[in-house]
Amino acid sequence: MENIQKKGTVKFFSGKKIPLEMHKVRIVQSLNLVPVERRLEAIKEGGYNTFLLETKDIFLDMLTDSGTNAMSDQQISKMFVADDAYAGSKSFTKFKTAVADVFGKDMILPVHQGRAAENIISQTFVKKGSFLPMNYHFTTTLAHIQLNGGTVVELYTKEAMKIKSTNPFKGNMDIPRLEELIVSKGPENIPFIRMEASTNLIGGQPFSMENYKEVRKIADKYKINIVLDASLIGENAYFIKKREEAYFDKSLGDILREMCGLADIVYFSARKVSSSRGGGICTNNMDLYYKMRDLVPLYEGFLTYGGISIREIEAMTVGLYETLEEDVVGQSPSFIEYAVNELDKLGIPVVMPGGALGCHVEAQQFIPQVPQSEYPAGALVAAFYIISGIRGMERGTLSSIRDENGNDILAELELMRLAFPRRVFTLSQTEYVIDRLNWLYNNRELVGGLTFVEEPPVLRFFTGRLAPVSDWPEKLVAKFRADFGDSL
Ligand SMILES: *Cc1c(COP(=O)(O)O)cnc(C)c1O
Repeated sequence: MENIQKKGTVKFFSGKKIPLEMHKVRIVQSLNLVPVERRLEAIKEGGYNTFLLETKDIFLDMLTDSGTNAMSDQQISKMFVADDAYAGSKSFTKFKTAVADVFGKDMILPVHQGRAAENIISQTFVKKGSFLPMNYHFTTTLAHIQLNGGTVVELYTKEAMKIKSTNPFKGNMDIPRLEELIVSKGPENIPFIRMEASTNLIGGQPFSMENYKEVRKIADKYKINIVLDASLIGENAYFIKKREEAYFDKSLGDILREMCGLADIVYFSARKVSSSRGGGICTNNMDLYYKMRDLVPLYEGFLTYGGISIREIEAMTVGLYETLEEDVVGQSPSFIEYAVNELDKLGIPVVMPGGALGCHVEAQQFIPQVPQSEYPAGALVAAFYIISGIRGMERGTLSSIRDENGNDILAELELMRLAFPRRVFTLSQTEYVIDRLNWLYNNRELVGGLTFVEEPPVLRFFTGRLAPVSDWPEKLVAKFRADFGDSL
């Protein structure tokens, strides 16, 4: 049965390479596309920050894959059998079993989402003078580590920052630099090495098992723990299966357990990994478990719900098992691969090869006239919303921080991320994304920069407000009308 059901990609007689959905849609939500003039108004009201837009003004919401993946009928049905006991809930026991089955970790601390896990891990292990090596940071990870006095050390390989690459594992860690760092700072100042699956901020790029095993060897040599951020682990496992020869014949389950087995602590955001809400920290090490445990009732909730609604715990449990299915986990990467290849044919600078969670457009190549001090990725995201009604997310200098002198720390990559939440968008919607990006690329000289008018000190990209440096948005709208007539 296993073999009969095993699916490669379906080949089309026409020779076209298009992804084919292995699900049907039975619950739908209406979308609304407001005219370009209203979109200009809306982005002004939102301070040119797409986080401050409202759904009523958005056509395709490609802001994030966080909590926006489609749930399965199995997940939703289980939500009705939840046991809402405050302590000792049956729903939690099922969740604990799923974590042991899928990740191979027996002890689990539930938390309300991924960053809550980062809070607990950072408070427990990071102190002033700590150095935290990682393949790359995530925004909330960096914030929590800094809050506790630690310094993040990014140990990505040279390949990671190349936009167009054929390297299948741009999320790998630079092993020689890891060892150099440990020797120079002293292993006692390194509470853990952090590996992030499908490295989010560099374009959802995976690491290979081979590289990760090398990291483990170094960790063993210097007796340092490994913490695995497993928020996007399903996709990383999928890429290992598709791209790393030694794993072509392994199941996703085997790969997932091997990945988790190499880490001392695994944490995740269930908003991503299991298409629901919640998160968790899991380990097989009793000592580590007890060090973290008491912070859960303090910040999250009792140990058997951790601030998550019990219905969501049921959905999380099913979602974890669905992470073992290639058709589920591969859906978003196959759409991303399609979009990335089509955009590349049009000459549009996109991160290649396609990774997890979204399609990433490089803004410095797209609009080279906008200097990094004027947030090119932010400007591109705003411009793209105006001309398409599609909401993307800035992942560049605007999502970065300032140094002690108040200067922007310039991001290595200026990316507009267009997330492909799992099983949410159709291929014709994907074609619309490609079409409108093509139009914007042909009119790219019209896009100008942005400047802050209101800048919060922490995680400024969430709520900060900006303004355009000239009247470029009006000019863009005028050109849109000239080219598209009365089209939306
Ligand atoms: C989303 C994400 C987080 C944070 O999770 P939240 O549930 O949004 O708090 C941490 N790490 C990675 C890699 C993520 O993608």
